[in-house]
Amino acid sequence: MTMMNTPLTMRVLMERGPLYAADTEIVSKTRAGIHRYTYADMGRRAKQLANALAKLGVKQGDRVATLAWNSYRHLEIYYAVPCMGAVLHTLNLRLSAEHLAYIINHAEDSVICVDDELLPLLERIGDQLTGVKHFIVMSGVAGSGGQFTTKLGPAHNYEDLIGGESTEFSWPEIDENAPMGLCYTSGTTGNPKGAMYTHRSNYLHTVTQCMTDSMGVSGADTVMAVVPMFHANAWGLPYSGCTVGFKQVFPGPTMDGASICQLLQDEKVTFTAGVPTIWMGVKAELEANPGKYDLSNLRAMTCGGSAPPRALIDWFETTLNLEFVQAWGMTETSPLGSVARLKAKMKDWPRDKQLDVKQRCGVIAPGLEVRVADINGNEIAHDGAAMGKLLVRGPWITSEYYKADAPERFPDGWFDTGDIATMDAEGYLAIADRDKDVIKSGGEWISSVDLENAIMAVPGVAEAAVIGVNHIRWQERPLACVVLKPGAEVTHAQINEHLVTKAGIAKWWLPDEIAFVEAIPKTSVGKFDKKVIREQYKDKVLTTA
Ligand code: ADP
Repeated sequence: MTMMNTPLTMRVLMERGPLYAADTEIVSKTRAGIHRYTYADMGRRAKQLANALAKLGVKQGDRVATLAWNSYRHLEIYYAVPCMGAVLHTLNLRLSAEHLAYIINHAEDSVICVDDELLPLLERIGDQLTGVKHFIVMSGVAGSGGQFTTKLGPAHNYEDLIGGESTEFSWPEIDENAPMGLCYTSGTTGNPKGAMYTHRSNYLHTVTQCMTDSMGVSGADTVMAVVPMFHANAWGLPYSGCTVGFKQVFPGPTMDGASICQLLQDEKVTFTAGVPTIWMGVKAELEANPGKYDLSNLRAMTCGGSAPPRALIDWFETTLNLEFVQAWGMTETSPLGSVARLKAKMKDWPRDKQLDVKQRCGVIAPGLEVRVADINGNEIAHDGAAMGKLLVRGPWITSEYYKADAPERFPDGWFDTGDIATMDAEGYLAIADRDKDVIKSGGEWISSVDLENAIMAVPGVAEAAVIGVNHIRWQERPLACVVLKPGAEVTHAQINEHLVTKAGIAKWWLPDEIAFVEAIPKTSVGKFDKKVIREQYKDKVLTTA
């Protein structure tokens, strides 16, 4: 006797929302105002959509893309497309036009559902999208005449398309290893690369996400994902929402501090997730308007995508009396990789020591395995300081890139994340750098991120980006590009002095050269564009002692 081998398909989880949380609300902020309906409504409309897509010829395995902000219609597509056996390809609206065209063609998308205000993004590349058969425009109103003309040619209006369809749809039985979702990395070097999620991978990711020691979201929560549904599945929260039936709040296109604070208050949000810049905007809004917002319902704020500053973590926990939880993940890891929560024994630790833990990105999620390997492939010391390549494996880690060969990223059945990490004695990871950014100085590694943060804390410094440049003896040494605040006068020697005496930076980490510049080149998402900086200094050879 063994146990049943029922397939781990998303239908089993997704239909729980309409079944067991039928009257729980799904709230979306749109340009036109607040839209409210229930899981029951959402489930019916998802089935109408499935009927409509089937009539357009969408079959199992076909790619249906979305170019959309977080909203209820996007959720309906999240539900209908995988459950009918097709593949949901979320297009990252922050990609360059060139990369957007590349991924649509590479994925062979046959249908694209696009928010009306994002239509111009697609129209710009329309002539390159030869394989797309149908464009479905999601606009606020029904009744625009079924089909209408855009610069892309004829397009369907979402509301008219689904409006006349039956609210019954019999979801097919699907193999648990069938693909259900596709997401491309943002491709800071070269073309974006795709990770193809399966029903099984996403099922296990969803269940793990709901564990208390992971994100710990439950049916008792009201959740607002400020992380986008167009990248890394909004960290999987829309799927968890349908699974446990929490109230979902979608912020739509407006993500400034004031809009977020207002929505958190009005909808009594208990759990929210976003990247550090979002929370910096919220903090600025709250500081500028003391007493304006009542955020007493908010119990947890999850933060990932890049490392949140220690002061930000401390501010939110002490000011709003909530739990600030750092997480790490990437497109290739579905994305949940690790979550930083305090263990019982840490509850009594002094605040500083607790913040040391919270500043790390957490312990690997149950179900995944991790290795942090040094230059020779040996596990590094778990002392919180030794750096190594972060390798992971598990059922929701991609085993290859979609239609792209990159064997170097998958050594011996592991995924090389490209992140450089440390692990402390308690198993908490911290991301020290990206592999391509870490400075390899005489066989030892220097974290460009740590150096940048330390330099940016020097009075008078506005911004700092650190790269490794060639060195005749040490292979690479750090060079810092520094932007000073208006009117500030700071020298290289003063910066080094501050790094050693105030920031505790080791002498051998100090930048050999500092270039005082007007501005630091940035990528489309506002990160330092180190590729451009490296290009500027590629012929430079340092000869410092
Ligand atoms: P991309 O598509 O650009 O790869 P991802 O959203 O997949 O974007 O980004 C993943 C990367 O973000 C990780 O490899 C890591 O470098 C960084 N990252 C994510 N979470 C954290 C964190 N908590 N601390 C530091 N870096 C993080």
